[in-house]
Amino acid sequence: MRIESVMANGTADVFDDNCVNGSSYHKGDRYTAAPNEIFVNRSLHLENVKFYGFDMDYTLAEYKSPQYENLGFNLTKERLVHKGYPKEILEFEYDPSFPVRGLWFDTLYGNLLKVDAYGNILVCVHGFEFLKHSQVYELYPNKFLTLDESRVYVLNTLFNLPETYLIACLIDFFTNSPQYTREKTGVRCGDLAMSFRSIFQDVRSAVDYVHIHGDLKKKTIENLDLYLKKDERLPMFLSRIRESGAKLFLLTNSDYMFTNSVMDYLFDFPHGAQPSEPHRNWKTYFDFIVVDAKKPLFFGEGTTLRQVDTYTGALKMGHYVGPLHEGKVYSGGSCDVFTELICAKGKDVLYIGDHIFGDILKSKKIGGWRTFLIVPELVQELHVWTDKCQLFAQLQALDIQLGDMYKDLDSSTKEKPDISALRGAIRDVTHKMDLAYGMLGSLFRSGSRQTFFSSQVVRYADLYAASFLNLMYYPFCYMFRAPAMLMPHESTVAHEQRFTVDTPTIDR
Ligand SMILES: [Mg+2]
Repeated sequence: MRIESVMANGTADVFDDNCVNGSSYHKGDRYTAAPNEIFVNRSLHLENVKFYGFDMDYTLAEYKSPQYENLGFNLTKERLVHKGYPKEILEFEYDPSFPVRGLWFDTLYGNLLKVDAYGNILVCVHGFEFLKHSQVYELYPNKFLTLDESRVYVLNTLFNLPETYLIACLIDFFTNSPQYTREKTGVRCGDLAMSFRSIFQDVRSAVDYVHIHGDLKKKTIENLDLYLKKDERLPMFLSRIRESGAKLFLLTNSDYMFTNSVMDYLFDFPHGAQPSEPHRNWKTYFDFIVVDAKKPLFFGEGTTLRQVDTYTGALKMGHYVGPLHEGKVYSGGSCDVFTELICAKGKDVLYIGDHIFGDILKSKKIGGWRTFLIVPELVQELHVWTDKCQLFAQLQALDIQLGDMYKDLDSSTKEKPDISALRGAIRDVTHKMDLAYGMLGSLFRSGSRQTFFSSQVVRYADLYAASFLNLMYYPFCYMFRAPAMLMPHESTVAHEQRFTVDTPTIDR
């Protein structure tokens, strides 16, 4: 038996009985093991890509989890204590099972929110207290919040995971410590009032300090093995891109010294592109290298383009006017200047990055680039999707049962069916599904509803995958085809179902 279901975005999906055994239905005609697969929102012919652009952090350089989050978490705690926060907070320990990327933080009420594409609240948590429906309605009368940047901060990136958990720890600490009194928009301790907004701003400033001036980079460079993954296929894969006739560029927000240390490490193998070839410096694999790009600003007005002195890391004097040379490193600039200097049109570029806003949304909206989003969480997400598929099947079955309750009723019906047990069962299964991913559920969904993050992925990422190395499983002539997006009237009405009209329409 197969159960046809309709996803929130109107696409049809199929759950198969045999999925309980761990095998899943494959919609495409190309079989690739799921973790190595590249998923398609908009069709893209690789043959048309003339430039492959790479972000570095969390794209070429995947940080080890939870070791790297732990480091960021601990350094931020220390910074907050240095700025006057109570020493007790040093006892917090990072718990990777709690945070999920893409949450909204409501600075007014101090809540972490998981929302759908339109700002409807799916999950609301204050510290570690998950609010009940009635509590959510009290604070948000329509169970809805607009993305107002003066109130809401979107915790979009993998770098945001430690602070997501730290915010929850701090809200929990201040809300539940006996010396603080809880108020609607903050806490009070004697004459001292602290708003949730100010706690959040303190965390943000501490995170920025740790990233820009603090020890995060220094400690990362001192322990690259501990914090970074590396894959010996990298030199071979980048060479293959070049052999296909395309050019490569690196476009990173990191500064030159940090970039150089990380990239040296990623290419630190005795061999080059082939096991028989000698090692080559990482710069030789790229046609153009831009550091300190300041994305998303890069895709708008940008900054001054300058050349980096690779011996000292200092910027050379003056505004660099081109041309860009292979083996040299440039800093800043803008998308307009950069694409002109490399003679690229927007659609010639496939940019591969992990930041849904800075790398993907802006490059597509402003630069017209084709986009490939890296979502390392997909490995775990796909594992749960296949391992727990009986829960998804249960949810679909409950949805069908709910529909059946109304099957033979019409406007003459006086007695309404009791659907409370079914609704309770749907909530239970949704909760079980969420817990299979982590405390705050999946990055992409809550039950059958998709998250804000999901909607942005669908809208702005042409392709997405767990790793850029998944491109190795496709030929450079490959045509990525997007699956058909069906409207609810298309996905719920089968073609073979007879649907006749009484009045003839235009004869086509
Ligand atoms: Mg990145």
